[in-house]
Amino acid sequence: MLNGCDNNCTYCAIPMIRGRFISRKIEDVLEEAEKLAKDGFEEIIVIAQDTTKYGIDIYGKQMLPELLRKLCKINGIRWVRFLYAYPESVTDELIDVVKNEEKICKYFDIPVQHYSDSVLKRMNRRTNGKQIDDLISKIRKEIPECVIRTSIIVGFPGETEDDFKKLYDFIERAKFDKLGCFQYSKEDGTPAARIKTQVHHMTKKSRYNRLMAEQQKIAINSLKEKNGNIYDVLIEDVSFDGKFYIGRSYMESPDTDGFILIKRKGNDSLINEFTKVKIIGNSEYDLIGEIVS
Ligand code: SF4
Repeated sequence: MLNGCDNNCTYCAIPMIRGRFISRKIEDVLEEAEKLAKDGFEEIIVIAQDTTKYGIDIYGKQMLPELLRKLCKINGIRWVRFLYAYPESVTDELIDVVKNEEKICKYFDIPVQHYSDSVLKRMNRRTNGKQIDDLISKIRKEIPECVIRTSIIVGFPGETEDDFKKLYDFIERAKFDKLGCFQYSKEDGTPAARIKTQVHHMTKKSRYNRLMAEQQKIAINSLKEKNGNIYDVLIEDVSFDGKFYIGRSYMESPDTDGFILIKRKGNDSLINEFTKVKIIGNSEYDLIGEIVS
């Protein structure tokens, strides 16, 4: 949808590799989506390094809410999702569109990266911990069924035990449904790679393990809470033993999240079809369901 990024996070080489942020015109994006819908595609994913800034460079304002509303009007499209929302750019208007447009997946992927203000500042992020806390609470209040994914970095240069504790406490409190955690590693040519106070690799590993142990409990509880719920599921594949369909609901983004494994009756084929599925259990990462007849 757009290329490049102007955010210049100090750990990231993407602005050097991809250059400045350039949006595609709204008509171009809509034309492509209409063509995809005519070809039978039912899910549109709007994606960029910082999707929430869409349109600022050519229209002088954030145009993602308007783009999403227009995508929802296209016949044949059932799901619209967008990936990678920079926290400072998640506006009330955007939350409102996600809440009220039926076709928009109630799913936010907001890479917050850290919680401690001093680390966020050294990362050149423009949100502080309190703003991140407030944003997550607002989304949960406005859209209780919303799934929230985030990404964080542990062991960023200069991260103290106190910084890590603030991050850990936040993760415990925010209860992200899905979380990707990365141990900081130097990217050539970036400002963070030149910071003298690099964190020892054993410390990074230990912090990563502690955080992921906590997140695993949170993620499993989030899966358990879905038990008994009924979702629209897009069936995409069959398990290797043929006993289960593999599908996704609005809660699972392709290639990133887990799946819903659905008990299969006989050898019928529902691949590429939407069907109603009742959740009856879960494994460590995936939900298990059965087709509601
Ligand atoms: S981390 Fe994301 S927002 Fe930051 S500079 Fe890289 S691409 Fe841009």
